[in-house]
Amino acid sequence: MTVDTSRKWWVGSEPSDIAEFLKAYASEGAEVDEFRLARCGCGSTSFLLDADDDEGVARRICTVCATEHFICDSQDYWDESEPERLVCIECESEVANVGVGFSIYPARGGVRWLYVGYRCSACGVLGCFAGWKVGTLDSMILLDNV
Ligand SMILES: [Zn+2]
Ligand SMILES: [Zn+2]
Repeated sequence: MTVDTSRKWWVGSEPSDIAEFLKAYASEGAEVDEFRLARCGCGSTSFLLDADDDEGVARRICTVCATEHFICDSQDYWDESEPERLVCIECESEVANVGVGFSIYPARGGVRWLYVGYRCSACGVLGCFAGWKVGTLDSMILLDNV
């Protein structure tokens, strides 16, 4: 794992570098405790990513098999949202690795907050495309729906 922080944007050499970026990015009081990398059922880790940061939803579309997946609890709120497609701020590529950082309540009592991070597949730039509050007790299951 190599994260180059010397340039304008953080750049990661591999998909799991999203975790380190999100840990540094997270707000005080909503630190990242757990990270899950998104992986399609076909094995791919390359996606198009649509999200609405105001509504708190995100969807990934596999670039290999075109399967769509609503990230965590996004399907419940998707109809009210106005999602935008991720475009890399550095190279304008739309293809990215996707991973979610979770802030967890003490004693694994649920998800406080989550961050949808990405790494551009073309140039490696790391970022956070959306984040939202969960705040429910029965939400640990979301870690299995990245
Ligand atoms: Zn796939
Ligand atoms: Zn890029």
